[in-house]
Amino acid sequence: MNRFWSSVVHTLTPYVPGEQPKQTDLVKLNTNENPYPPSPKALLAMSKEAADTLRLYPDPNADRLKQTLASYYGVKSEQVFVGNGSDEVLAHTFLALLKHDLPLLFPDISYSFYPVYCGLYDITYQTVPLNSQFEIDPADYQLPNGAIIFPNPNAPTGRLLPLSVVESMVQQQSNSVVVVDEAYIDFGGESAIALVDKYPNLLVIQTLSKSRSLAGLRVGFAIGHVELIEALERVKNSFNSYPLDRFAISGAVAAFEDKAYFTETCQRVMTTRERLADRLTQMGFQVLPSAANFLFVSHPDRDAAELAALLREKAIIVRHFKQTRIEQYLRISIGTDEQTERLLNALSAIFN
Ligand SMILES: *Cc1c(COP(=O)(O)O)cnc(C)c1O
Repeated sequence: MNRFWSSVVHTLTPYVPGEQPKQTDLVKLNTNENPYPPSPKALLAMSKEAADTLRLYPDPNADRLKQTLASYYGVKSEQVFVGNGSDEVLAHTFLALLKHDLPLLFPDISYSFYPVYCGLYDITYQTVPLNSQFEIDPADYQLPNGAIIFPNPNAPTGRLLPLSVVESMVQQQSNSVVVVDEAYIDFGGESAIALVDKYPNLLVIQTLSKSRSLAGLRVGFAIGHVELIEALERVKNSFNSYPLDRFAISGAVAAFEDKAYFTETCQRVMTTRERLADRLTQMGFQVLPSAANFLFVSHPDRDAAELAALLREKAIIVRHFKQTRIEQYLRISIGTDEQTERLLNALSAIFN
C-alpha cells in the first residue's frame, strides 16, 4: 500500500511465473521450455542483426514475420497479429475482444494468467469446471457469456480437445469470440488455424516459446478474421509501436523457415514424453494423456508437494500448483533423454 499508487494497483494479484533459478546444474522441468536449442539458422539470422542498423527502429508492423506466418499457415497477412510473447498477445486480446457485459468463460483448471488479465482490465469472468477426467466439455459452456478462452492442449493438464470438438464449440458459440490458446499444439494436436476462414468468431494464439525453443526471444502471434486482428492492432498501436525488436523479427522468420529442425525436435520431445509416461505408470503414477511437452501426474501414495520438495533436494525442479482439485498433481516438463533418466533415477531413489 502506497499513497502514490493508482487505485487499480492496490487490487492487482499478479501472475507468478515458474522459478528461473540462478543455479545452473539443475534439471529444470518446471516451465515447459524446450530442452533443445533453437534452430541454428535462427541463431545465425539473429547474430546478423547485431549491426549498425540497430540504431534504427524495427518495422512497427513486423511485415516480414507476418508474411512468413501467413504463407506458413495459408492465410492472408492481415489475418496475422504478432506480439512480445503470446502473453502480450493474450493481454491485448483480453482488452480488445474479451471485455463484455456478460462474463468471459474459461476452465477452472487452466492457464493462471487468465484471471490476472481479468483483474488488470476489470473483466467479469466465470470459471467452468473441467469434468472428472479433467476434460473440457463444450456442453458445459452453453451459458450466457461474452466470450470464451481456453488453451488447447489445456495447461497444466496436457489434455487435448480434438479439432472436430473445437469446431463444434466455435459453431455453437457463434455470438461469442472463442479464443484458442495453442501454446502446445505442435506436440501432437491439430491447429484450429485451419478453421479461421470459416468462423469469424475464432481467434487462435500461438507462441515460439515452446515448440520452437525461443522462450528467451519473446514472440507470439494470433491468427483470425481480419476484423478480430484489427481490434488487436488498435490496442497494440495504443500501447507500444515496436513490441518486436530486430532480433525477434529475424529470429522468428528463420525459425519458421527451418521446418526440418522444428519437426525433428518436436518429434524427439513427443518420443521422450511417451517413454516417460510409460515409466511413470510402471512406478504407480497416474499419468493424464498429454499432447503437450509436459506430463500431469499424481501418485496415490505420495503427497505431490512433498515429492516436489524431495526432487528439489536432488536438483530436479518440477511444478506444483497449490490449487484445489490439483494439489496432488505435479506438472513435469519433457526434458532431454538424459534429464529424463536423471528424473527417473531420482524417483526410484525416493521410492526405495
Ligand atoms: C507458455 C504459455 C503461454 C505464454 O507463452 P509466451 O509466448 O512465452 O508468453 C501462453 N499460454 C499458455 C497456455 C502457456 O502455457
